[in-house]
Amino acid sequence: TVVGVPTETAAGERRVALVPKVVEKLRSRGLDVVVEPGAATAALIPDDAYTAAGATLGDPWQADLVVKVAAPTADEAAKLRRGASLIGFLAPLTAPAGISALREAGVTGYAVESIPRISRAQSMDALSSQANVAGYRAALLAAEHLTRFFPMLTTAAGTVPPAKVLVLGVGVAGLQALATARRLGARTTGYDVRPEVAEQVRSVGAQWLDLGIEAGGSGGYARTLTDAEREEQQHQLGKAIGGFDAVITTAQVPGRTAPRLVTAEAVRGMRPGGVVVDLAGESGGNCELSEPGGTVVAHDVTVTAPLNLPATMPEHASELYARNVLALIELLVDDSGALRPDFADEIVRGACVTGEGE
Ligand code: NAD
Repeated sequence: TVVGVPTETAAGERRVALVPKVVEKLRSRGLDVVVEPGAATAALIPDDAYTAAGATLGDPWQADLVVKVAAPTADEAAKLRRGASLIGFLAPLTAPAGISALREAGVTGYAVESIPRISRAQSMDALSSQANVAGYRAALLAAEHLTRFFPMLTTAAGTVPPAKVLVLGVGVAGLQALATARRLGARTTGYDVRPEVAEQVRSVGAQWLDLGIEAGGSGGYARTLTDAEREEQQHQLGKAIGGFDAVITTAQVPGRTAPRLVTAEAVRGMRPGGVVVDLAGESGGNCELSEPGGTVVAHDVTVTAPLNLPATMPEHASELYARNVLALIELLVDDSGALRPDFADEIVRGACVTGEGE
């Protein structure tokens, strides 16, 4: 099997789907790897690191299995061979046109978002590996924008109290944001609608904010709230948010518009100099004032909704993603390195979003 690694073309995307260490692993399993020249320049990995690891430089689109970070553009999809396979963030729930294009091109597509969140698939869980990067960066952004210290300081010139940081939506990104904010010395609180999260929040040294609204869904995800629940949630959060210096939001429901957790009114209730970092910008944002991809200042509170934070740490983000991709490839190939997906396997079946014209 030949694995192709193209250059990512989305604006601001600096990640690459395979790193040299993983190329070595694939070579030792009997696969060949073709890397587009310059594919990892933005991730600061030179071409010769790939050739030293056993890859060749060339046209990645003729490969049997193309590995990407972002879903291919229409032009890129047209370059895929009929019968080829593709791994990437294919956005099956939010970009159905791209999925149709792959089906018509006769491509077998594996969407990393669709890998079931079960223990056996943890090594392939690209949503988690990238969410860890995003959560870490979100805490740093909050510290950067806040006009006050995160840690408590006891100095000869007086004592500074620690910042109070609230994280709304505590999945993988939220937990990492809580842990990172605490390492910086903030006093942290977490909130989620899945009650089992309380224990995880406490395990990273944060307090649990309990609003009495439980909305666990299937597969470990939250469900969409009813209108009444949403109103109650916004009302109660509105009262709580004013007591915090920084609010980091990460709440998502797969395939849906992000829930609105922070109203303009709640932002107005924050102390001047405070900050909201909204990680849900890609799906519309958790804060009413968020402008996805931008930063606004309202009533002297900074509201920032950065897109694609993992791309801002391309080396580690690529390394972690490449290991996820490797684990998935290992599941798809036989002992000789030939692609032989077993569709009876729930991980393969879950990840596969197009194949055989379906
Ligand atoms: P996500 O990005 O889909 O959502 C982020 C968080 O937002 C979730 O915790 C969700 O409950 C919360 N949320 C949604 N709507 C909300 C609302 N209205 N108000 C408040 N919070 C809201 O989540 P994720 O990080 O992808 O994690 C999803 C699940 O996957 C979790 O249960 C996680 O523990 C699980 N997981 C399992 C494994 C594994 O066992 N293989 C690995 C990683 C994650």
